[in-house]
Amino acid sequence: MSIAMESVWQKIIERVNAENSGSSKMFKGSISPLRLENNILTLASVNEFCRDLINKRYEKDIKRILSEFDPALSYEIIVKPGKTANVNKPLQPTLPTLSEPSAAPIAKTASSKYESMFNSKYTFDSFIVGKSNQFAHAVCQGVTKKPGILHNPVFIYGGVGLGKTHLIQAIGQEILKNDPKAKIAYLSSESFTNEFINSINIKKIDEFKKKYRKVDLLLIDDVQFFANKESTQEEFFHTFNELYQQKKQIVLTSDTSPDKIPGVEERLASRFSMGVVVDIQPPDLETRTAILMNCAKNSMVAVPDDVIMYLAQGVTSNIRALEGAFNTVLSFAGIMNKPIDKDLVDQVLKNMLRETAGGKIGISWIIKRVAEFYDITEAEMVGKRRSADLVLPRQVAMRLCQILTDASLNQIGEKFGGRDHTTVMHACDKVNKMIKNDKNFAEEFERVKRVVDPNK
Ligand code: ADP
Ligand code: MG
Repeated sequence: MSIAMESVWQKIIERVNAENSGSSKMFKGSISPLRLENNILTLASVNEFCRDLINKRYEKDIKRILSEFDPALSYEIIVKPGKTANVNKPLQPTLPTLSEPSAAPIAKTASSKYESMFNSKYTFDSFIVGKSNQFAHAVCQGVTKKPGILHNPVFIYGGVGLGKTHLIQAIGQEILKNDPKAKIAYLSSESFTNEFINSINIKKIDEFKKKYRKVDLLLIDDVQFFANKESTQEEFFHTFNELYQQKKQIVLTSDTSPDKIPGVEERLASRFSMGVVVDIQPPDLETRTAILMNCAKNSMVAVPDDVIMYLAQGVTSNIRALEGAFNTVLSFAGIMNKPIDKDLVDQVLKNMLRETAGGKIGISWIIKRVAEFYDITEAEMVGKRRSADLVLPRQVAMRLCQILTDASLNQIGEKFGGRDHTTVMHACDKVNKMIKNDKNFAEEFERVKRVVDPNK
């Protein structure tokens, strides 16, 4: 974002909000500046409602303020779902491929190339530390002080939306700040895999090998996607060893601990746990409150304390969901011109609950979809019968609950007809072993997983 655009936008927000009050304020969460080109300020709004509302309410104000800068200036609003509060820069594509060499994630000289790999929001400054993540946070900060020396490799694991990507990117951005010439590669295991396969196809495998074996810092997000990709794992194993021997820092994230990632070879999993393994837990109430207070501060809207408390109590699963709920409450207030109060929170939470129930992460959802997949009934799934055609689906569903939800083994057991947590543990182990030893089953498992969670 250019400084000019930043200051123009800042002025508009300040002036409009000085002239309006309460929920009539224009808040940052619903709209953000994209570019200022050819005298047109392009703004991105989260949805059509917001766009129309802002045009209806503020068009005159925005035009007037723009003309004070320069009478030639005008503006337009385009709809860009997923753009939310706090994201100051438009997200840059982060997954370069070899066919686009200019976008390769290893910068050689200028730091600007690296910055585009990262979301500017994901820094240590914006990371709220609480009981659930303080150890992971401390380890990550340690990494930036003495890369490759203090903790190496670092393996961060935890459920969805708990801040793994935020932390791994914070490491990259901090190291880059300290050393703008640092050669950093940040990518997901999926991108690594795709790039590797691509390099084979276009016969540039040596280039690929060199590329990742000469970085100073290797950041790989979501290593669970290496599952069952044997030749990629082999290549990554060698990359890992080479960097490790040169005392280069390696940081990895995953949704489970190294020993529990299905379909990852033991020798690789054991490399993953050679340094420091840290987990991130779901945030406690205090942390959730702190995060919401921070969101409120950034949104430039006065959000009453009791609303923040109420939201913090209502959304417990993860931080992404918490931020989503907060932004939705603000959007609702703006769009429907309602005060930000507990009633509005109730309305938003009700919608969220419905989405989760019909969406992906609840245990009941998993039971329903896995039962459908294997063509058995939900009652059979959680029932007592132990015939082979029921046991396997049950075990698969249990393992999926372990991967895709934050539920404890006890909670999972309970939903499966009051079974003991040791039964769930046994089921998960068994499924893991089968994934390792039986390729066909591993594929089947991936298929079921996609049925349960199409986003994965
Ligand atoms: P994960 O990679 O574990 O699925 P992310 O790192 O993508 O989760 O985090 C989800 C969202 O929650 C992001 O917007 C992130 O900035 C935010 N977030 C997570 N943890 C924190 C934290 N401790 N403080 C502030 N924001 C956080
Ligand atoms: Mg992530």
